[in-house]
Amino acid sequence: MLVVGSPIESTLGERLATVTLPDPTEDVYRLLKALYFRLYATERPQNMEVLASLLRMATKYMVDNLRKEVIARLEILFPDTLEKYNSQDRKAVTPPDFDPIIAVELSLACDVPAILPTALYLSILRENAHSLSIGLSKAVQMGIFPPLQAHYRCLSFKDEFRTFTESAITSAYNEPPWACRYKDDRFACSTNKCYGIPVHSKRALELRLSGLHHDMFLDSTFLSLEKEGYAHLCPSCLEKIKAYQSAIRSKVWETGLPSACGWRTWGDVKSGRPPTIKGATA
Ligand SMILES: [Zn+2]
Repeated sequence: MLVVGSPIESTLGERLATVTLPDPTEDVYRLLKALYFRLYATERPQNMEVLASLLRMATKYMVDNLRKEVIARLEILFPDTLEKYNSQDRKAVTPPDFDPIIAVELSLACDVPAILPTALYLSILRENAHSLSIGLSKAVQMGIFPPLQAHYRCLSFKDEFRTFTESAITSAYNEPPWACRYKDDRFACSTNKCYGIPVHSKRALELRLSGLHHDMFLDSTFLSLEKEGYAHLCPSCLEKIKAYQSAIRSKVWETGLPSACGWRTWGDVKSGRPPTIKGATA
């Protein structure tokens, strides 16, 4: 990598050549540390700022092994399956400075498409759930990455993702548990063991799935209905609601996440094929 720098005579008056790199001091320091201490990049957890430095530098100076190590870590944090998303492994490597917008920028600037769908989802979720605007990362503030690229992709993703989720909900209107007889503002219990599901509960469920106020892909968000005002329902109705939610979120994960980024499937995301979204350059 040092060949890329510019060897010059030492200004210290010694007969030593020095190499000047145009990169931020922190990036150079972290790269050298990762090269000398081979477990540095894979510390559990490792900070996002450090992972970002290492990926930028490993990509720029073609340190392939280090680049693969960092991408493997980012793929745990921003995975391609619901199972991995809810895994203990992911929890164990999530750092205190976890910030999905950094992953969006890295994905676009360092050509790591596999992490883009989940990183975009988490960015818009964080923005919406906390009423925050998407902040500028340190790399953008320092001029390393262009300021608008990640923001444009977030805005575009948000529209497409919402449209897909709402259409998935609409297409399940006649599926259980909503296929049962409807009377007195309730969907009747198919086993007559409870009073059925109130219509306002259905609306609340739909809002939880489409409102981007809750993480619809976290098991803990949707698998505790009994604690959230649904305790009056019989086990059969509860199971039907859980199955309905699982079907919607699986469909949105499998198809909605990649398609909102311009790919048809997760396979296409990882194939290296460019997305078809207008203006996308991942
Ligand atoms: Zn029931």
